[in-house]
Amino acid sequence: MRNTHQRLEILKLLSGDKSHPSAKEIHKRLKKKLPSVSFATVYNNLSKMEKAGEILCVDAGLREKRYDPCVKPHGHFLCLKCKNVFDFSFKNSKPNLKKFKIFNYSFQAKGLCAKCAKKEGGKNGRKK
Ligand SMILES: [Zn+2]
Ligand SMILES: [Zn+2]
Repeated sequence: MRNTHQRLEILKLLSGDKSHPSAKEIHKRLKKKLPSVSFATVYNNLSKMEKAGEILCVDAGLREKRYDPCVKPHGHFLCLKCKNVFDFSFKNSKPNLKKFKIFNYSFQAKGLCAKCAKKEGGKNGRKK
């Protein structure tokens, strides 16, 4: 199996995906198509693709890095409860970074997503 082929399959798999899957998740999905692919191979490919600017690596402070096929500048919101990563745009509040040479930048927010906030609000009283 050629390496570039795997890379293409990973790109295909990620394209349009907004769930920001981890390397483990990507490996699991890729195995359905390429049963013999190893986790190390997937991980190496992801690193290379990240360096090449083909995908974005989201380090949301979770145990696992998450990957994002959308490389346009956008923000990530991490739900502390369900650990889902959501995209948001910040077009109108561009940071002033003119004096630096920027390769990439990210903006992160943490809290509860709408779903979890709703669940939390449904509880009576506070739990420790
Ligand atoms: Zn949530
Ligand atoms: Zn994203």
